[in-house]
Amino acid sequence: MKQVVVILVNYAGTEESYGLLGPQVAATIIQDNTDYECVVVAVGHDADKDTVKKNVIQLAGSNRPIIGFSNLGGRSELWTLAEELKAEGAITILGGPQANVDYLGEVGWESHHHRFPGVSDSFTFALHGPVEQLVPFLNSQGKEEPDAIPGALFIRSGKRRANERNDWEEDFLTRVDWGNLYRPGPSGPEPVSVTSAQVVQQIGCPYAARKVKVSLDYPANLRGSPFLRKGKVSLILQGCSFCDVARDKGFGGALSLESVLAQINNLPEDADGRKIPFELINEAPLSTLPGLLLAVREQGTRLSQLNLVSRADWLVMGEEKLRDALKLAKVMGVCILLSAAGFESFSDTILGNLNKGYPLRTNLAAIKLVRQLKEEFPENWSYSTADGASHGFIHPTPWDSAETEREMNSVIFAYGLGRDILPLKSVPLIIHHACGLGDWVRELEMREGITLERAASIIEWW
Ligand code: SF4
Repeated sequence: MKQVVVILVNYAGTEESYGLLGPQVAATIIQDNTDYECVVVAVGHDADKDTVKKNVIQLAGSNRPIIGFSNLGGRSELWTLAEELKAEGAITILGGPQANVDYLGEVGWESHHHRFPGVSDSFTFALHGPVEQLVPFLNSQGKEEPDAIPGALFIRSGKRRANERNDWEEDFLTRVDWGNLYRPGPSGPEPVSVTSAQVVQQIGCPYAARKVKVSLDYPANLRGSPFLRKGKVSLILQGCSFCDVARDKGFGGALSLESVLAQINNLPEDADGRKIPFELINEAPLSTLPGLLLAVREQGTRLSQLNLVSRADWLVMGEEKLRDALKLAKVMGVCILLSAAGFESFSDTILGNLNKGYPLRTNLAAIKLVRQLKEEFPENWSYSTADGASHGFIHPTPWDSAETEREMNSVIFAYGLGRDILPLKSVPLIIHHACGLGDWVRELEMREGITLERAASIIEWW
């Protein structure tokens, strides 16, 4: 019987049935290129740790199991689980976004003891970059040393070391097994039938490709009190100041049309023989969208729903292409859902500090456009919260003041944003230690002689 590699993935809830491309691709590559089977286990925030552990051992066996952890989203209970499994003899591997910076810890943690020290104790090693780097290690039944694995981060002679990582290879991204997702159950893993998936068209974000020098304001409030000192912090940023993936991935360019079509063809189908809804992973999707839909139509593939994520400025700039795409969607009977637009704020002061790269009027132009398109293409275009969209709205932030609150409330009221644009719950500004704002916090701490608490990999400013 084949041994099973288990990949644990952070999920929103135990009942979720969406499929994440990264872990499913990783599992497929392992199955196709090694002697192991590989399954993905979705661990919801409400999952019971003991049940998860029992399920993992049931799947992986007790003979030196190999367990990957991906997309942990700062969930320290998963790091604790990894540490327990490692202590009991498992090989635990941290992968996915921020694996490198979370393994290595926050800049300067050795001399600033309140900073996040990293999770090297919980994992045998970490892997930055594509999973195919692990294939020789797995084919050695886990005997190869991490020193020989490209992209590996590990400890040697008491020091944390990082090997150079390989680039993404397009060929590895085209085949995805969507049928090996499970959730932990009381009497063993339960298969999850994936009802929505992801297709990658572009790796990383073009906005994060360029380094820019910016000047961010001191906070207006910190740790629940007004922050009275005024000043500016100069930083070099790549992308939005709060974005933790931009620095990690940079911009890796676009995949070929053939690769994107291969992924679409590989998606599961619904009861009507149409491909299940999928998110097109492309931060700037509009310029190529009509061409993609045309190609899908020409090969006779039937789609149900395509979800887009876009910055507000790229929506406005791509209006013509989006209209062309919607005309095609109408002919094809496809729904295009703008599932997330990165509005983030309705205050110029806060947009500037988030380094969004555009002002409030761009957000308002994008909102006007998406509403107008709903009138023109009522059956084929969706964008509202009621349709399942969850647009970016970061609130509260450390730059909130009476003035910004007034400014935002007046915009929200005047443009009726509560009826279709605002998400059910806003998300507070999350500062991951390795995002641009991590540098902002550390500079503030040094200059002003303050220290902010760390909650695992997140810096608490509230
Ligand atoms: S938040 Fe979005 S637009 Fe901003 S850098 Fe990150 S991926 Fe790019």
